Amino acid sequence: MANETDSRWRIGLDLGSTSAKGVLIDPEGAIVAMKLEQANTAPAETADRMVAAFTNEHNLSSPSVAATGYGRSLAGMAVRTITEISCHARGVRAMHPDARSVIDIGGQDAKAIRLDANGGVEDFAMNDRCAAGTGCFLDVAAKKFNLTVAELSAFCDHNPLSESAGNSFEISSTCVVFAESELIGLTAKGTPPKESLKAVHRAIARRVILLLKQVSAVEPLYFTGGVAANGTLRHALEKESGLAIRVADHAQFAGALGAALFL
Ligand code: ADP
Repeated sequence: MANETDSRWRIGLDLGSTSAKGVLIDPEGAIVAMKLEQANTAPAETADRMVAAFTNEHNLSSPSVAATGYGRSLAGMAVRTITEISCHARGVRAMHPDARSVIDIGGQDAKAIRLDANGGVEDFAMNDRCAAGTGCFLDVAAKKFNLTVAELSAFCDHNPLSESAGNSFEISSTCVVFAESELIGLTAKGTPPKESLKAVHRAIARRVILLLKQVSAVEPLYFTGGVAANGTLRHALEKESGLAIRVADHAQFAGALGAALFL
């Protein structure tokens, strides 16, 4: 339990385009608690709710709050707002001091970051235009086959490679609307659902890999964001990039942790 007057307990909020994440850290910077809300349609209210819950559950008097993510400016109680790039870099380095690159894939965007030897951001690239290279396409594809995103990777046997010779089922559209109609086309041609979904993972990996190339990503490379839980996509990214990709601890919370550490 926190001391009543201890303001060094810090809360980082990552008000993302798809979900809201909150991390409470103690004066030493260790994670004490984490909260996730899958939907983030009202970021201001979500921020208030999360801070109130952390405060009550841990008997805090006035914890300082920092916010990142697309809805960060709506967190009225935040004394600092910080970009997602800086926060993912900071959060990953705190958990993995050897990290030299980060790939973050969330619900609506993807980011590649190359770090310098001290953990500073040396270069970054971001895709927030083309949803076919983000978790959004996985959400759409999972729904089409009555699966949850959490079930997708196992459904593909955690392996993005086609079981048929020559990987003949491919999705090439760079826009998720057209990619979705390609997916419907594959299904109409009798393509097995597993093959269609593997093709979805390969298509996303081909988009994301462009970001890794743009920043000349190097190992050790850590994967953050909600999509990091998808092993099939991780394998597809490794295959396309030739780089080993490690899933960061608390991958979906890396940005929120980074925000808290900036206080
Ligand atoms: P944002 O910060 O943009 O809101 P997140 O980093 O929170 O995004 O990631 C949200 C995305 O993570 C969702 O679009 C979903 O596709 C994916 N996701 C969430 N949970 C899982 C899971 N258990 N397995 C695979 N993917 C997941």
